[in-house]
Amino acid sequence: MLRWSIATVTMGGTLESKLTAAARAGFRAVEIFENDLTFFSGKPRDVRARAEDLGLAIVALQPMRDFEGMPEPFRSRNFDRAQRKLDLMEELGADLLCICSNVHEESLGEPERSAADLAELADLAARRGYRIGFEAMAWGRHVKDWMQAWDIVRAADRPNLGLVLDSYHICVRGNPIAPLADLPADKIAMVQIADAPAILMDPMALSRHHRCFPGQGDYPIDDFLEATIKSGYRGPLSLEVFNDQFRGAPANIIARDGMRALQAAGERLDARFVAQGRPPMVIGAPLPQAAKISGIEFIEFAASAAESPRLVALLEGLGFSRVARHRSKDVDLYRQNELNIVVNREQEGFAHSFHLVHGASVCALALRFDDPKRALERANALAAPTYHGRVGPGEAVIPAVAGVENSLIYFMSERTREGGTPSNWDRDFVFVEDSAPAGPLAAIDHLSNVVRRSEFLSWVTFYKAVLGFVDEPQVELADPYGAFYSRVIGSPDKSVRIPINIGDGGATAAARFLETFGGGGVQQIAFSTADLFAFVEQARAAGVSFLKIPDNYYEDLEARFGLPSELLERMRALGVLYDRSKTGEFFHIYTTMFDERFFFEIVERRDYDLFGAANTPVRLAAQALELDSAAGKRALLGG
Ligand code: MG
Repeated sequence: MLRWSIATVTMGGTLESKLTAAARAGFRAVEIFENDLTFFSGKPRDVRARAEDLGLAIVALQPMRDFEGMPEPFRSRNFDRAQRKLDLMEELGADLLCICSNVHEESLGEPERSAADLAELADLAARRGYRIGFEAMAWGRHVKDWMQAWDIVRAADRPNLGLVLDSYHICVRGNPIAPLADLPADKIAMVQIADAPAILMDPMALSRHHRCFPGQGDYPIDDFLEATIKSGYRGPLSLEVFNDQFRGAPANIIARDGMRALQAAGERLDARFVAQGRPPMVIGAPLPQAAKISGIEFIEFAASAAESPRLVALLEGLGFSRVARHRSKDVDLYRQNELNIVVNREQEGFAHSFHLVHGASVCALALRFDDPKRALERANALAAPTYHGRVGPGEAVIPAVAGVENSLIYFMSERTREGGTPSNWDRDFVFVEDSAPAGPLAAIDHLSNVVRRSEFLSWVTFYKAVLGFVDEPQVELADPYGAFYSRVIGSPDKSVRIPINIGDGGATAAARFLETFGGGGVQQIAFSTADLFAFVEQARAAGVSFLKIPDNYYEDLEARFGLPSELLERMRALGVLYDRSKTGEFFHIYTTMFDERFFFEIVERRDYDLFGAANTPVRLAAQALELDSAAGKRALLGG
């Protein structure tokens, strides 16, 4: 029976907590990594009882290393070891023992000997009703590719001996994937799934530290699953992910993310099969289809009464006007064109709690869906429960789910925008006369999330699986105080784009943000405008301060692009940055940071689709200077 499984090595903590987390996340099968038993307080049969209580089948014991093709006296010792493993399987109630290809320097590398050893072991196992699986490890001494392992398994020719197919080893070696579909199904003992980022690294180091869940890396996992299932294999599909960050995180979060990633992979697989005229292979309940997102309806800031006037002055400097006040709460709506910003000064409830932890900051976003009800059902099916806030009588109930650092993501309907003023706004807010003021800013271009390194992949899976976002390739940038990583994800129509950033290193801007902010969150909001220069002149006159860009930057620009000196001087005078792609040009500018927590970027795109990544080091260095001088001023003032 096809079912999702997880190897205990994927999670951190005690074996008991791993089993509990796996069961809670919806897994019905586990592979037991033998090292987990070493630290287990009870006996192996207690593990079996615990797993049975939780409804988990133990589908394999792994790994047995350096077994096949050894000279004496290693060979005899290995058969003694194998007997003990078979005893252990009996106690665990597992019927499959996974052998990974030999890395031992004494191993002979003679396929006939390896086949004979595996045949003999399979016969030992058969007497007890057990099976043996043989897995090609990418760094095996002689057997590295699945085709080699298959030759050996075929030569051994035992009914209870088959292949363990691990997507990591197969993909990192660049092995052919489509021919897996031609393997006899009864010769596949187990299918293991792990993704990895497309970075050049020693395969063993990459495997031990950077394996990740499907959709978090760059490997063709969907092709792999399609081929293995087309073979007719119907056994467990097991996540086997070695990753330090995963083992350092709570087991329940990792198990949940693993299940989310598998459910999304299963959904993509079903879509492929249906497109090919084959029946879908639904494992568990089918997911409600991702709803279409058409933009961000509003961004909500939490601010104290003391911070609020400065925030409002900044918003007004950017061209926003107050258009409405909430009927029952200390909440105002600021607007220009189609852009909505909510400022929440409530002294209780969600925004207030968020403010206590994070200070003045973005506490919520509202996404517009074509079908918010279905979007919410999908979120719930992927273990993102609905949050209902406190509402006054007659006010709109806008459901939400928890986003980064327990900020909220509201699910709103596109229909609220039909016929002018959205209905939810009318129900909750009292509008002043001009409810749709014009302004220089046209749209939300993108907003960035800073997250802890340990949570980065988790949020990638959240956005992709729960909200149906897609990702763009990961980039690595230099911060003056360390490395900085970014992966841009967004709605398929690009109406919402969110670079997720992690700072690696104590003093990177992203790391400082995490420290100042008390966790991750929205660090940057970028708006687009049709005329950046006119906007900046207007905003500067209105008192908005922008990030100071060093003169060297403009000298470098001149050398790189040969821009007209008049344009260059204007950019230098205003602090505007520039980039150029094959298709077009990009002008952008950053405000100074608000309480060292967040800043705005204003962009003018001229047929340019990127984010000006070349300028990010300049921005980070300028912000580091700004933060240092702010810290210096605070020290001088003794505050
Ligand atoms: Mg494996």
